[in-house]
Amino acid sequence: MITRILVVGGGASGMAAAISAASARPNADVTLLEALPRCGKKLLATGNGRCNLINLNTSLECYHSGGAFASFALGAFDPARFFEFLGIDTVFDGEGRGYPATFQASSVLDALRLAINETGVKLMCDCPVKDISPRKTGWAVSCAGGEFFADRVIFAGGGLAGKGLGENASFRILEKLGHHIAPPLPGLTHFVCDKKQVAGLKGIRLKGRFTLLSGGVPVQSEEGEAIFRDDGISGIAIMQLSLGAKQRLAGGEKLVLRLCPGGGMAPDALRARLKRFPSRALADVFTGELNRFVAQNAIKRAGLKPDTRAGGLSDSGILRLHAALDAWDIPVLDTGGFADAQVMEGGLATCDFDPETLESKLCPGLYACGEALDVAGYCGGHNLHWAWASGTLAGREAAKAP
Ligand SMILES: Cc1cc2nc3c(=O)[nH]c(=O)nc-3n(C[C@H](O)[C@H](O)[C@H](O)COP(=O)(O)OP(=O)(O)OC[C@H]3O[C@@H](n4cnc5c(N)ncnc54)[C@H](O)[C@@H]3O)c2cc1C
Repeated sequence: MITRILVVGGGASGMAAAISAASARPNADVTLLEALPRCGKKLLATGNGRCNLINLNTSLECYHSGGAFASFALGAFDPARFFEFLGIDTVFDGEGRGYPATFQASSVLDALRLAINETGVKLMCDCPVKDISPRKTGWAVSCAGGEFFADRVIFAGGGLAGKGLGENASFRILEKLGHHIAPPLPGLTHFVCDKKQVAGLKGIRLKGRFTLLSGGVPVQSEEGEAIFRDDGISGIAIMQLSLGAKQRLAGGEKLVLRLCPGGGMAPDALRARLKRFPSRALADVFTGELNRFVAQNAIKRAGLKPDTRAGGLSDSGILRLHAALDAWDIPVLDTGGFADAQVMEGGLATCDFDPETLESKLCPGLYACGEALDVAGYCGGHNLHWAWASGTLAGREAAKAP
């Protein structure tokens, strides 16, 4: 008997679901419906076009939300087999982050498109799904151009993150079928700060440890790089800290980002530096060691004059300068919006889905995968890892004989 399967959304998870369903069961009739003129637009933007497509060290701790729910799908997913099937060679860095050997997101998309074709999936683009409703047997899925019928539907409509790449709230279609929605929030984005705090620093990169404090108490720390913007701070380390920050701010928490511009310089090391260049002005003493503008900012926060000679600095001045280099606290006013975000926190509440099949507990025959579900990972390939893992699981399960 032929099983008709409709996949709604041609992003990473929807393409994986369609390919998985079609290859799991040769007599499955699989159709992939995509709203845009082409599939995989967001995929092309991933990893700055290099596509950090997987992480060998993924685990439930790598997900800010939904990690426990995701762990079955992640454990059942065999990345080596999946990418070998697609003909994609992968390379990994020392931290388990995987990329296509071509370092081109476009080659990943090309491989997926070829597999869609070769597994007999019917692809229909320019086909935005407006409604999904149950019938006596199976489902009706309506688009602007007409209605489709299917035994099973896999929802892979993604989330709101990414300017011009997401920005749709199609997961709301499932709300009317009784599914709960966890409030959608932008994740993996920048921090917005008072412009005066970061004046003159735009474009400067700072490496080191970054800590988020709530009410003065550290809640999360990240090693890495931050980049100053004219309205705040971005960079991978900051994006990691941003997951959950919007929710904290909405709950009235006072958030502060603590930077360590001196890179953890010990007081003795600072004394030694000052002693080495006693005739230099403070503004010049860190030349070759710290960014000039970052150093000047620390001197100002320490209440010192940039033209003070290093050799003439008092003991209390040295301690104040050390404190300013060790901890620079910047209040976080907000986080970036969806246009700047790489992932959506929230979406379809995972409690309504079976983690081992990704089938809805409320609507048998309806499955969901990818970012539409309330699963949000940190940077490093964890979100695409979830997209492939959940897509292949949903596809395989939907293709099983009734
Ligand atoms: C700039 C950027 C860089 C990123 N880089 C990385 C990275 O390097 N590594 C990583 O792991 N993650 C990265 N991510 C996150 C990752 O891209 C996403 O988590 C992942 O692509 C989600 O896949 P998805 O299939 O669930 O959703 P999407 O990719 O959003 O796909 C959903 C698809 O469904 C279609 N659709 C929506 N509604 C309908 C409808 N009603 N009818 C028909 N079609 C519909 C959409 O047009 C879209 O094509 C990045 C995200 C962004 C924005």
